[in-house]
Amino acid sequence: MNKNTESSNEIGKLYVVATPIGNLADISYRAIETLKQVDLIAAEDTRHVKMLLQHYGITNKLVSLHQHNEEKYSHVLLDKLRSGLSIALVSDAGTPLLSDPGMPLVKLVKDSGLDVVPIPGACALITALSAAGLPVTQFSFEGFLPRTSSARKSFFKERVLLSKTWVFYESCHRILATLQDMAEIIPLDRQIVIARELTKLHETIVKTSLAEALELVEHDDNMRKGEFVVIVDGAVEDKKDSEMTIEQIKLLQVLLKEVSIKTAVAMAVELTGVRKKILYQAALTMNQEDEL
Ligand code: SAM
Repeated sequence: MNKNTESSNEIGKLYVVATPIGNLADISYRAIETLKQVDLIAAEDTRHVKMLLQHYGITNKLVSLHQHNEEKYSHVLLDKLRSGLSIALVSDAGTPLLSDPGMPLVKLVKDSGLDVVPIPGACALITALSAAGLPVTQFSFEGFLPRTSSARKSFFKERVLLSKTWVFYESCHRILATLQDMAEIIPLDRQIVIARELTKLHETIVKTSLAEALELVEHDDNMRKGEFVVIVDGAVEDKKDSEMTIEQIKLLQVLLKEVSIKTAVAMAVELTGVRKKILYQAALTMNQEDEL
């Protein structure tokens, strides 16, 4: 770091620094100190991060690291670390790498044997889960969903029988279409949480059935504004016994396209070891969805 005792022939460290997801106060002392002390800040959008830096009186050198240059530019940053400079990686909001740039850089630095130091803080996914009131012992984070309706429906079909909670990010442009697609595949009484504009002025966290959530988003213009995290409860029915992995569900779907339900179930029993009753129930559900 430039303002401490590290000498220039030492290897620098990469600090992965979480920044706020809305409320500027949601940043740690350690994050601010790190952003002040590093030699360089690599930011997804330098204009965006300038607002945060100005707020905390941080005047530090910025370089741009975004999804279009990160494969190449990460090597430049690795050379800088090797020359002794320390670098902080930040994204536009929250924790870098989580549906944000940074993976190529962190992988490169880590695989090169240099230190990567996490400076934890806000993350929309964890913030939403912490206030959702749905089980969090196990959950699956799905990032952003596919953009086309047919791909989204396939995505939902693969998850309709998952017993653990699943979470995804959504934008204001697609929240309604996504819920409409979801309502064609996921049971309408399934509990979901829509967490919108977290930590901001219009923060809204609604926990309700899929049917009611869809109605709310359809009829309330405000519920189609801002940034969203959507959390879906796992399949509740006979939870312990009916659990199937995504791979097992996919396998059954493939078999059902080729052979009768009876044969598909028999083959799936052989291939997966899952109980026949569970596979048969799952196959019937999938067939019903296809008829919709
Ligand atoms: N790296 C970030 C994190 O740690 O959460 C997420 C970056 S991702 C490009 C941006 C998406 O995260 C948004 O489209 C939205 O789905 C979600 N998100 C970010 N901030 C949010 C907020 N304040 N409220 C709700 N969702 C948010």
